[in-house]
Amino acid sequence: MMSRGDPDAEARRRRPPARPAPRLTLDTPVTYLKGVGPARAASLARIGIITAGDLLRHVPHRYEDATTVTPIAQAEVGADVTVLGKVIAKGVLPTRKGLRVFQAVVQDATGMLEIAWPGQPFLDRTINTNDWLLCTGPVRFFHGRRLQPREFVNLGPEEEGTGEGRVLAVYPSTEGLSVRLLRAMVQQHLDALLPLVTEPLPAWILDAAQVPSLPQALRMVHRPTSVAEAVRGRARLAYEELLCVQLLHRKANQVARAARSGRAFENRRDLTTKLREALPYTLTQAQVRAIREIVHDMESPRRMHRLLQGDVGAGKTVVALFSALLAMENGAQVALMAPTELLAEQHARSIERLLAPLGIAPVLLTGRQGAREKRAALTRLASHEPVLAIGTHALLQDDVSFANLGLVIIDEQHRFGVEQRAVLGAKGDAPDVLLMSATPIPRSLALTLYGDLDVSVLDERPPGRHPVTTVVRPETGRAKVFEFANSQLDAGRQVYVVYPLIETSEKIDLKAATVMYDTLVAGAFRTRRVALLHGRLAADARDLIMRRFRDGELDVLVATTVIEVGIDVGNATVMIIEHPERFGLSQLHQLRGRVGRGAEQSYCVLLGDVGTEAAERLSLFAATEDGFEIARADLKLRGMGDLFGAKQHGLPAFRVADLLRDEALNETARLVADRLLRDDPELEAPAHVALRHQLTVGYARALDYFRVG
Ligand code: ADP
Ligand code: MG
Repeated sequence: MMSRGDPDAEARRRRPPARPAPRLTLDTPVTYLKGVGPARAASLARIGIITAGDLLRHVPHRYEDATTVTPIAQAEVGADVTVLGKVIAKGVLPTRKGLRVFQAVVQDATGMLEIAWPGQPFLDRTINTNDWLLCTGPVRFFHGRRLQPREFVNLGPEEEGTGEGRVLAVYPSTEGLSVRLLRAMVQQHLDALLPLVTEPLPAWILDAAQVPSLPQALRMVHRPTSVAEAVRGRARLAYEELLCVQLLHRKANQVARAARSGRAFENRRDLTTKLREALPYTLTQAQVRAIREIVHDMESPRRMHRLLQGDVGAGKTVVALFSALLAMENGAQVALMAPTELLAEQHARSIERLLAPLGIAPVLLTGRQGAREKRAALTRLASHEPVLAIGTHALLQDDVSFANLGLVIIDEQHRFGVEQRAVLGAKGDAPDVLLMSATPIPRSLALTLYGDLDVSVLDERPPGRHPVTTVVRPETGRAKVFEFANSQLDAGRQVYVVYPLIETSEKIDLKAATVMYDTLVAGAFRTRRVALLHGRLAADARDLIMRRFRDGELDVLVATTVIEVGIDVGNATVMIIEHPERFGLSQLHQLRGRVGRGAEQSYCVLLGDVGTEAAERLSLFAATEDGFEIARADLKLRGMGDLFGAKQHGLPAFRVADLLRDEALNETARLVADRLLRDDPELEAPAHVALRHQLTVGYARALDYFRVG
């Protein structure tokens, strides 16, 4: 309803006056930046760029410059090169398919090369004769050598052939957002944004690592005059990240120490001694040491937060069992949680066997149990009996309560979230916590990553294991490989065949795996019992297949997903991995760990034609079974993300820092963090306020991660 004289209604009818663009700050959403529409903003958001400040902090992951340029005469077909040359001819050519191709011929002192941009005829307008181009991409054969640039930069005519000092920043990008577009966006706004940046770190902290100030560093990474300068800028950004994480780490430790009073167990050497006597093998030195460290923790009135790290097959279970018995001989209850039914059952079985001579039986609690069985289990947990409960997530349910939970053990700890670990811990009165992990990471790394955790490492294999024979075989050897697999099957062994499945191309991969499965069933494994296991199957179906394989009812398991980590089928002796180049080394290592678990000699075959680069990686892998060495190589080659996988919960996200490459910076950061907190524990001094702000705003999520459940 509208009345004539109503001034408000009048105002509503008029279009609002054009809103003045907000004053540019680092918090300004990128949508307000010139040249960024909703579509681009959405693409930017996908790589975490929401504000102008985020854009500024989006750092190139590599650089191309004149010093990495290949002389044109040496740009060979099949190679991936960066060339620098002057355009001496150009034009747009139609192809038979109706695609228009922009072509240019560039020349340097050594020769000429054709460059082609299919489907980009518009480049004819921006690239002129006599322009110098810096182009990166593969050289193909097409009526002669032809480079198809992944990216390029037009240096213009004035460069006159040197190209020196021109460095091309290459940014991590995403779909719908080319590297070039990102680079242009950053360059366009850099001059307006840099003056808004203030230095959060006091000068002495910068001096300690001899790094430039933040505004300088940002200029250096985005618009370097040399690669060396870009490296200096990057170091500054990495240093700040490392320092923040070190500070958080220390803060978390302080809080945790205050809150970490637990119970002190007495080392009665009653059940533990009996176990040691009943064991069918002697413990390794590493196991003895880990047990000693754990016992020490458990004797202390401080709450234990220990991570037991050991490669697959290193023998973590028995170490956990010793800690369980120590708690039990003090009358306490123990919960051992594993990520899958299968693993929980496997633990229950092997532990049952080990504890039988002691007259102790563990209590199993999984989602598969019937109501009666479950009720019986719950009754035992609710009694004051010192039981060992082994289970899955089922242990976390509300109706599971312990009368006297004194120790929590979590296997494959990275498969659980911080909250889940906390829920189990909360079922007791500050129980000791032992986490187990098969992801082998260097100890210094573990200390930085896991905040308030003590770490024990099993770096020794139990004796008597044959090393797994690992070989790389080309496509031409395929028939032989399966022949060999059949000979093992004839000898009564079992075989895994693994096919990679990558989330981004899941459908295609699954299809390829299914085709391969069909081929095997109709061909090489015609007479065998074969099953296909993949992630699209319901959990029940998957479980059933694994169970049948474990029980020897299947000969061959063709799997797309990583076969259950920790699964122990001693009779499986052959692991064939298709497209090995598509796996990270640590993943391959986990896969290889599925065989070589029994007394028989085992084999891991990496099958397929791989490029030279991959071949190098794979031969490194074939040459060692040291998980730590492999992890280290993987870290160097592929960065942190892959090693831990997307599932790793709550890792602090380093955008720039790399714990291996920046080891020295990290050490400086550690010393600086110590001094800083000694002088000003709450970071209240005016000189530290900006840093504190940085911590609370920039690392809010990381703070969560330091809470150990
Ligand atoms: P993981 O560290 O991968 O969990 P497990 O605890 O499952 O390894 O142990 C792998 C195998 O090694 C099991 O079959 C276990 O019985 C055996 N094992 C563990 N410790 C020793 C040892 N000291 N000597 C011989 N065999 C051992
Ligand atoms: Mg295990």
